[in-house]
Amino acid sequence: MMETMTEKAFAPNSSKGSLRPANVVHIGKIPVGKDFAVFAGPCSLETESLFLEIANSVKQSNAVGLRGGMWKLRTSPDAFQGLGGDAFSLVQSVKNKTAMPFVSEVTDPRQIENLAEVVDCFQVGSRNMYNYALLKELGQTKKPVLLKRAFSAKVDEWVKAAEYILAGGNDQIILCERGIRTFETVTRNTFDLNAVAWIKANTPFPVIADPSHGTGVRSLVRPMALAAAAAGADGLLIEVHPDPANAKSDGYQTLNLSEFSNLMKQLEGLLNSLDRQLLKM
Ligand code: PEP
Ligand code: MN
Repeated sequence: MMETMTEKAFAPNSSKGSLRPANVVHIGKIPVGKDFAVFAGPCSLETESLFLEIANSVKQSNAVGLRGGMWKLRTSPDAFQGLGGDAFSLVQSVKNKTAMPFVSEVTDPRQIENLAEVVDCFQVGSRNMYNYALLKELGQTKKPVLLKRAFSAKVDEWVKAAEYILAGGNDQIILCERGIRTFETVTRNTFDLNAVAWIKANTPFPVIADPSHGTGVRSLVRPMALAAAAAGADGLLIEVHPDPANAKSDGYQTLNLSEFSNLMKQLEGLLNSLDRQLLKM
């Protein structure tokens, strides 16, 4: 049964014939799929000075790229919805100052054209993994897509969602495990590292892990980030803020700057013990 699913995952079912997923996907100049690549930043972008402070700090700690939500899909319509297009100029400025590539979520096909000017990789969030209209539009672009697993998706559904992007002609796809909803409630999500190891063993896709959403608990982010590296992930997406208690979203699962720096040191030691390298800029 596993064989069948694996074969289906790479069946040349795209309109372009035999297009296969890239093994290594470049986000800006950063290769994802070889050495261990860490992308860090706030859940939501807030101000330019705050993002620059975070970017400089995570760069110093050897993150190779930045994350930060512009359009936020929140459970409550009353919660902070993000700066949206108002964040474009602050993103451009921080990218110019740090030379770091930037990943951010696209929540609507109508954002793609403008967002492509500031993002180096489109993130598809967990809530949109099943949004096939969005996936098809991203298949028409040349930019990398970071496809998060829906919190209710089986691995097979997640891989098939990636095939929608591939079928349009875009082979630049990175999968991202971010936890699934189970009967367990002490954590926000159940971080499925089985899936990370399975994807690496059975598909060509690079896969990164998001222990921030995967746990939803700040104190668990460090151990589960290390566990993701041990499970064979190609990198991490991780939420960092100088003052997590006052972050506009997801502060309870966000590391502060020194927690992130400590994690990065431990990560490098762990990777080296596994004959792997932490990617540095
Ligand atoms: C995020 O990365 O901030 C986010 C909203 O992630 P997810 O779609 O996994 O919930
Ligand atoms: Mn978040």
